[in-house]
Amino acid sequence: MEPMQLVIGGERVRTTNHREIRNPSTGAVVGLMPLASEASLDQAVRKAAIAFDSWKQSSDHERVDACRKIAGIIEESAEELARLLTLEQGKPLGGLGSRFEIGGAVAWTRHTGEIELPVEVLQDGAEGRVELHRKPIGVVGSITPWNWPVMIACWHIVPAIRAGNTVVIKPSPNTPLSTIRLVQLMNEVLPAGVVNVVTGDNEIGAAMSRHPGIAKMTFTGSTATGRRIMESAAPTLKRLTLELGGNDAGIVLADADPKAIAEGLFWGAFINSGQTCACLKRLYVHDSIYDDVCRELTAYASNVPMGDGVAESSALGPVQNKMQFDIVSSCVEDARAKGGRVLLGGNPSNGPGYFYPVTLVADVDHGCKLVDTEQFGPALPIIRYSTVAEAIAKANDSTMGLGGSVWGTDLAKAKDVAGKLECGSVWINRHGMIQPNAPFGGIKQSGFGVEFGAEGLKEFTTVQTVFC
Ligand code: NAD
Repeated sequence: MEPMQLVIGGERVRTTNHREIRNPSTGAVVGLMPLASEASLDQAVRKAAIAFDSWKQSSDHERVDACRKIAGIIEESAEELARLLTLEQGKPLGGLGSRFEIGGAVAWTRHTGEIELPVEVLQDGAEGRVELHRKPIGVVGSITPWNWPVMIACWHIVPAIRAGNTVVIKPSPNTPLSTIRLVQLMNEVLPAGVVNVVTGDNEIGAAMSRHPGIAKMTFTGSTATGRRIMESAAPTLKRLTLELGGNDAGIVLADADPKAIAEGLFWGAFINSGQTCACLKRLYVHDSIYDDVCRELTAYASNVPMGDGVAESSALGPVQNKMQFDIVSSCVEDARAKGGRVLLGGNPSNGPGYFYPVTLVADVDHGCKLVDTEQFGPALPIIRYSTVAEAIAKANDSTMGLGGSVWGTDLAKAKDVAGKLECGSVWINRHGMIQPNAPFGGIKQSGFGVEFGAEGLKEFTTVQTVFC
């Protein structure tokens, strides 16, 4: 098997050492990840800095055109990318799996590529003219997680280069292959050095966040790692966008229709087998319809096929890695030990693959790991409440603040409750449905800064105020 190579300054670069990447559905080796040294990282930052000198001077038209070409080349290679993604990540090819993710990468690239940040005139009169200009920052370091690697890579890279920056990306060591291929494709349509990829262990990520040649870090991953990045970025005062973990609450009001919302609740919680930052991770249901919601959700969930991602019949895949599989298992075991009633799932088989069955646990409350921490897998706690005030207080009783949702038929009432939730995004009668024109980001320990739309693009710029 030929090892994959880093992409630095437009060239493919071999490394001495590699690591096997395995399919989480089968355990089979699907590729070899190059292990970059710190010297390779230095080289990538140097090449990105050289490219920045000219890319920052490129016209708006050139950058828009580059983003269009990137969208085009991803689209042309969609099936190849989707298959590689399924092999290393585990998610199914169909449904809300790899083809959906690549489609999302194209949609975000197209939309973001067209966003303009024109000069703003703040004042123009007898006392003079004041303009606000937006300028690129420099070399952007991007670090991505293993759950939606291709789409998140585009969320980082495309706005960065659209605003005139250059990029060094380091994907998760669990899912590096599809990102390397993505960057190879981007390099077919971009000038050398505008986008570079280095892969390796977490240590390469740490080296990026302290690297003096990197001006901004954009990071998607866990809160613990976000803190470490912030710490090591402090001496060089890097600009940061941190999209971190979530423990999203969904509140089902008494007037909701259990049968009508079961499908939305299910996919809000179980898309990508629950390995999504803004998944519904705690479900609060009013006492009066608690049993009905449990029944309808169980009925829907029982019929969703989980299996090897390459099988077209699979709608859900395995947990991506052993560490996450063990976290999910321990959350469910803890909930069971504390009196949780397992309505569905809860008993994983011994492999092959890290398949954890779709699991619903009723009659749990705060004070167990499945509710208090981020399970990041296919297990959902269902918590009973009797007053809306209690549900809101419990939903907000979390250090996290990424997303939230409210489910009911009286939309005004649902919207009122939604406004009281402490989170960056809130949905009514759906959960986690992000889109490229709407800012997305966390509050509290879910991070800071936003992605998407003009607000997201601004994060890749500095302001220069011109008094003329
Ligand atoms: P992780 O934090 O373990 O790893 C993310 C990335 O950080 C990887 O590329 C990893 O190699 C790198 N890394 C690890 N240690 C580092 C260090 N000291 N310095 C710099 N980089 C380092 O997260 P994960 O397990 O890959 O992803 C799961 C987590 O990501 C969950 O908590 C999830 O909620 C979160 N997530 C958040 C969003 C969002 O938009 N808010 C999206 C996806 C995932």
